[in-house]
Amino acid sequence: MMRTALLCVVVCWLAILAGCTTQQAAKQEIKQVAEKGEKLQYVETDTGRWLIHDVNRPAPPVISPGTGSTPSQAGQAPSDAIVLFDGTDTDLSGWTSGDGKSPAKWIVRDDYMEAVKRSGPVKTKQKFGSCQLHVEFATPSRVTGSSQGRGNSGVFLMANYEVQILDSYDNETYPDGQCAALYGRAVPLVNVCRGPGEWQSYDIIFHRPIFKGEEVVKKATFTIFQNGVLVHDHVVLVGGTGWKGKHAISDYEPHEDKLPIMLQDHGNPVRFRNIWIRELAD
Ligand code: MG
Repeated sequence: MMRTALLCVVVCWLAILAGCTTQQAAKQEIKQVAEKGEKLQYVETDTGRWLIHDVNRPAPPVISPGTGSTPSQAGQAPSDAIVLFDGTDTDLSGWTSGDGKSPAKWIVRDDYMEAVKRSGPVKTKQKFGSCQLHVEFATPSRVTGSSQGRGNSGVFLMANYEVQILDSYDNETYPDGQCAALYGRAVPLVNVCRGPGEWQSYDIIFHRPIFKGEEVVKKATFTIFQNGVLVHDHVVLVGGTGWKGKHAISDYEPHEDKLPIMLQDHGNPVRFRNIWIRELAD
């Protein structure tokens, strides 16, 4: 016990000494630069005030980047991501049905899950706010229906804000409802869809809306890459994305700071694989 306490004192003393030495070295460097008549450059950051090129500024954590997907095989998530679905969760134990309680009723095969008609959406049990979200999806290879009836699903951030999934490969519909649209709100910059049955990806950078009472004081923003191509460049979501009838808008409605990721059942057997998320500061 005595030994441990003594060790702690020595370690603390060494840490303080090291800190003092670093500070003294920094002060000496600043003095030398000032004597040469050079202008010092500082930057204010979340971690404090740092000199430009300051070796003492905290370095970012080291992670591994994972691997990319191929048409036949899903890639691996970065090492600091939360894996939401990689095919190993065969009974979808990390997901629920739309009520947030009962088991998810979608089918899992190989490394993907598939929407089951009239089973409703599926939601993650974990809740998230601002995030980087990676999702891979494939609309049915057997083409049926047209417009909104063809390969329709969706990725809902915070179970509220829909990034549309649709088979938009040679399929006309209203532009703010085509694949990669922020449904009813924002049209993607380009149509970069692959064909029916082909795996595609969304990489979504989402910053959640912030509410004060009934008011939204900071609106949500989306930056989205579809199949590696930028389709939304820091778009401010001006209101909700819910369907309220033709030409009717939906407004923001206050909600919790964190809510599930939700995938839509719109009656078409759309498939999903390799879903992972990294939480971001607001
Ligand atoms: Mg949809």
